[in-house]
Amino acid sequence: MAKNCHNDHKMKFSLEEEFPDLSLHNNHMAKVLTKGMYEKLRGKSTPSGFTLDDCIQTGVDNPGHPFIMTVGCVAGDEECYDVFKDMFDPIISDRHGGYKPTDKHHTDLNFENLKGGDDLDPAYVLSSRVRTGRSIKGYTLPPHNSRGERRGVEKLSIEALASLDGEFKGKYYPLSGMTDAEQDTLIADHFLFDKPVSPLLLSAGMARDWPDGRGIWHNDNKTFLVWVNEEDHLRVISMQQGGNMKEVFKRFCTGLQKIEAIFKKHNHGFSWNEHLGYVLTCPSNLGTGLRGGVHVKLPKLSVHAKFDEILKRLRLQKRGTGGVDTASVGGVFDISNADRLGSSEVAQVQMVVDGVKLMVAMEKKLEKGESIDDMIPAQK
Ligand code: ADP
Ligand code: MG
Repeated sequence: MAKNCHNDHKMKFSLEEEFPDLSLHNNHMAKVLTKGMYEKLRGKSTPSGFTLDDCIQTGVDNPGHPFIMTVGCVAGDEECYDVFKDMFDPIISDRHGGYKPTDKHHTDLNFENLKGGDDLDPAYVLSSRVRTGRSIKGYTLPPHNSRGERRGVEKLSIEALASLDGEFKGKYYPLSGMTDAEQDTLIADHFLFDKPVSPLLLSAGMARDWPDGRGIWHNDNKTFLVWVNEEDHLRVISMQQGGNMKEVFKRFCTGLQKIEAIFKKHNHGFSWNEHLGYVLTCPSNLGTGLRGGVHVKLPKLSVHAKFDEILKRLRLQKRGTGGVDTASVGGVFDISNADRLGSSEVAQVQMVVDGVKLMVAMEKKLEKGESIDDMIPAQK
């Protein structure tokens, strides 16, 4: 086992002296972490020197979140999921609907397997987006990487992305070379990640050295984008105005596979295994890492008593339109898949397409003053 001197220092204190106060907490980590588990794992570290305390810091600092049930821990490298398995496995099970340590994940990036998706009513569905994260094998993850490593990821990404052509021809814009006004416009247009204001990101150590090594690459018409060194090494996004999720997903699959091939050619594949699928920083994103969502107008349905129950039954989640830390304004929501692990990319986007279609139909019914009682779906 690798050595971490700071962690050795902590071992001079007893379990009772070191154990975090989780009494007010409501996140998956706090639910799972026992003193026994902490005692067993606190002396360990991964080969790159990441410890249990490093994993859980974000969940200790952030007892809960106003809109979502957070995970409360991150991985600093791929090996965390193995070295700290005793904690990660039950968290993964809790977060991913009972996913077991022996379960196998299924990847399907063949867009032709998606049924429909080109017929979401644009009068309600304002924009459609599919994103995922990717970790580049051999580099530690954003909560842990050094400046040099982070810059290495950036350099490799610039080289790889520069070789894309056709619809995917684009350019890299480093954050450090951007004016505040340019950055604000990109954020307001939903193309760029927010400034590092989220307490979840800050406590996880992902804002260190900001904006060094961070940037955004996008194609000429801003429908295919790659964020570099935010929460994951890469965040790959396909998006456009309106409700054509089929087109968005097709571009997502095609571009993503092109990128993967180029990274492989540079001898850097993506972290993936049969059990966890694509290995990412936040355990909530394991599997597909996919969040497929739409910005959709649901002013009536969203105040209906059954709204949250409907979302749950359709295996969907809601966010505000400004990102995970925002509330909905004016009845417009970001509706996306709740699942990531154990089902494929195609299956998860299908859930969004079918679910949003039903919700828009319900909204129309409510507009006419009619009841939606006979439209409430069964649990998927
Ligand atoms: P993620 O972590 O999945 O990328 P966030 O909730 O952090 O999502 O949001 C990141 C940015 O993406 C925000 O600016 C948000 O408004 C934008 N966004 C998310 N979904 C959509 C969508 N369907 N259409 C337009 N913008 C979107
Ligand atoms: Mg985010």
